[in-house]
Amino acid sequence: MSWQQYFVEAQEKQRQQGTLRQLNSFEHHDTELRRQGQSWCNLASNDYLGLASDHALKQQFYAQLAKADAGLSASSSRLLTGTFSTHSALEQTLAALFDREAALVFGSGYHMNVGILSAIADKQTLVLADKLVHASMIDGLRLSPAKLLRYKHNDLQHLEQLLHTYHGDYERVLIVTESIFSMDGDIADLQALVQLKQRYPQVALYVDEAHAVGVRGQTGLGCAEEQQCVQDIDFLVGTFGKALHSVGGYVVCSQVVRDYLVNHMRTFIFSTALPPLNMAWTDFVLQRLAAMQARRDRLQRLTLQLRERVAERYDQHLSASHIVPVVLGSNEAALSKAQQLQEQGLWVMAVRPPTVPMNQARLRISLTADVPEADFERLLTCL
Ligand code: PMP
Repeated sequence: MSWQQYFVEAQEKQRQQGTLRQLNSFEHHDTELRRQGQSWCNLASNDYLGLASDHALKQQFYAQLAKADAGLSASSSRLLTGTFSTHSALEQTLAALFDREAALVFGSGYHMNVGILSAIADKQTLVLADKLVHASMIDGLRLSPAKLLRYKHNDLQHLEQLLHTYHGDYERVLIVTESIFSMDGDIADLQALVQLKQRYPQVALYVDEAHAVGVRGQTGLGCAEEQQCVQDIDFLVGTFGKALHSVGGYVVCSQVVRDYLVNHMRTFIFSTALPPLNMAWTDFVLQRLAAMQARRDRLQRLTLQLRERVAERYDQHLSASHIVPVVLGSNEAALSKAQQLQEQGLWVMAVRPPTVPMNQARLRISLTADVPEADFERLLTCL
């Protein structure tokens, strides 16, 4: 079979299964998406704090930006000449905010998970990962020779059972979870995970706060802050590309872990560092995160209202966060409901397998703090 034929057939198969993905290009105007004379309220963005539409904040940033921090590329990897003072400043800000020894930043959250997990999990490691962790964590673990077992989603009894049965067979054990799960919007009990790991000296905990940083916690540092266990999580990771309206990923950890990653993490070593400009913006946002409580409060209010509506109309497990899925089952049902909402000017997207398990195709409504009230009311009505 020729390559051409191979690609055409693969695409046709996906079309028949209702899983063919396509790129949508838009003009972005704050919360509004525009294309060919049509417009929609964006309910599929990860800009959870609504910073994209805060033009005053961006102006304030540019006004104070030092020339040396405005570089558009780092032009080499961190270990060559790609570590600018902006990188170091950002890492210091992170370590100070989280009150941890050290922090390290990466090109993206995907790089972060793939790179850290493949660097730390060796043949003598058992990894126990929640069934629903993000693809980037699975990909990192696929690159490692560690033994991987998945525990049922958020089921700590199952995790404990696996831990009890197998921990003696390995030198080290790593528990891997997200705090807010990206497709279900539910939240891991981090305190319980900490208590569990503390019963075994060779167990460490890896928590991805991609969807929680900025949004949860008294100063916006995430669920670990909310659940008062920042100090007890060995690898506390997150991303800048969602609520922080920037780009990149981070880990806050001990100094020895940071040093190890600098020496072993291939996606860190062999990739161009993030541009100084983006680092400076991320630092600027992080330093103002604590003061963004009004945004978190509005997001929380919208979340509660939306969840109430979904609970009235649909019989399903309820989200505990601003990510609110409406599980419809078949790909066709999810696509058709998404289209219906899009016809009403609401850009809600269907998420289908393999991103979610088979027969759990859904709408993934992702709220942001700046959704206009009129659009939000229309959403409640259309659901
Ligand atoms: N972790 C989780 C839980 C995610 O949902 C995502 C992105 N959707 C990532 C990591 C990857 O982050 P980034 O987009 O910065 O590559």
